Amino acid sequence: MLSAKSDKYGRDFRVISRWEPTSQRCSCCGEIGGKKELKIREWKCLFCGAIHDRDVNAAVNIKVAGGQSETLNGRGEKVRLSAKKARQG
Ligand SMILES: [Zn+2]
Repeated sequence: MLSAKSDKYGRDFRVISRWEPTSQRCSCCGEIGGKKELKIREWKCLFCGAIHDRDVNAAVNIKVAGGQSETLNGRGEKVRLSAKKARQG
C-alpha cells in the first residue's frame, strides 16, 4: 500500500529492518548505547559524548539504515559502502 502510493506520487520508499535499534544507536558514532525508556527524550552517548534528541537521533538512523544518508562525521566502513552502492544503483 505505502509502496504503491510512493510510486504514484514519485516519492522514494524504503523498508528497513524492524530490529534495527534506531533509538538505541548513536547517530554520530554508531555505537549502541542500550535500551532507553520511552519517557527519556534526550540522552548523551556514552561513547562519543554527543547529546541527542530521541526522535531526531532515531530519524537520522532510519535515513542511514535506508541508505539515503550518511552521518556528518562518518560511521563504520560498512555503512559508507552501502550508501555508495545506493547512489550508484
Ligand atoms: Zn556516540
